[in-house]
Amino acid sequence: MGFNYNKFAAATGLMLNRPNSLFYGSILGYPVYCKYITGRSTAMTVRVHAKTEDPIDFSGYLESWRQTQTGIVQISFNNHEMTAMLSIPAKNTNDVLSQQVYAIVNLLQQSGLRPCCMSCGRTDSWSNYLLDGEGCTLCSSCVMTTQENMAQIEAEKTAQPINPMGALIGIIIGAAVLGLMTFFVMKMGYITYLTGFLGAFITMLLIKKLGGRLTYASAIIGAVVCMLVAAATPAFELAGELAKYNQENKKTAQEYCDAYKDLQDTIVNATSEEKEELEKLLGGNTKQYKKRNEEYHVLLSNQTTWECFTNITTLCQYDLYSEVKGELIKCILWGVLSVIISTACMLPSMLKESYGKHSLTPLS
Ligand SMILES: [Zn+2]
Repeated sequence: MGFNYNKFAAATGLMLNRPNSLFYGSILGYPVYCKYITGRSTAMTVRVHAKTEDPIDFSGYLESWRQTQTGIVQISFNNHEMTAMLSIPAKNTNDVLSQQVYAIVNLLQQSGLRPCCMSCGRTDSWSNYLLDGEGCTLCSSCVMTTQENMAQIEAEKTAQPINPMGALIGIIIGAAVLGLMTFFVMKMGYITYLTGFLGAFITMLLIKKLGGRLTYASAIIGAVVCMLVAAATPAFELAGELAKYNQENKKTAQEYCDAYKDLQDTIVNATSEEKEELEKLLGGNTKQYKKRNEEYHVLLSNQTTWECFTNITTLCQYDLYSEVKGELIKCILWGVLSVIISTACMLPSMLKESYGKHSLTPLS
């Protein structure tokens, strides 16, 4: 059985902060934080805040102790903080991990370390806090200092000057890169979400670089412009293909329209007998001929990429271009969604950084 959040929490008696996948609480009176990490490799980090008179000596002792244990990949002690990394056992995963966490805390207790505030080392009145998604142990006066520092950072960040002209240039260059990438990838016959991801990322980076810093306004404008470009580029590329098709079929269409016009003239000038005969000849297909005539008129009046681009929604209504309609919708959805998803993923943290926003909340 593999790692299970609830079972590990039950085995250790720690509480789980779901949004940050953080286990926290106290074991034998020590503040403990565990995080299950999945990524290139899977592991568990364990952090305990405690104080010793001789941290360097204790660090050496920890390392020699680690070598007698199995499953503890790394362990160290620094500034009131013990950090360990555990490998994930294949069998009895939750129980074995829990035993290892207890073994570590036990060792700290036996070695005479005292639980403390991770910042100043005060051994009374500390509590568990969440600082930007990471667990930390602070005493009441360090909480106040941290909050003051956070307010100061935010004030300094928001006081930084912004350059709207630079931000605008950043948006234009970023959107142009997005458009060109999408265009060339489509020309090669592919569509990919990567162009939207990359384009939006480059745009935000350029706003930051050229505009001083990312603001809510510039980020929103940048994202909207990227979405418009992600939608317009496939339309433009397909308009080019439509124009090529229309040019190739210009002669056929012209001949058809001319013939249709002659036929209409003949019908107008015909006697009722002749009309009857003509209608027999057409065999009830008049509607079809009329429709084809309309389509060919549209084909003749949309000979350039620009004409096809500006009339693309009209063109898509005709059966002649029905294949393009499906392709267009697919490409636009793909492009716009990739911009929306990528900005939704990266903007919150980028904006937090830009406004110097940090959060400190008590873990109860
Ligand atoms: Zn403190």
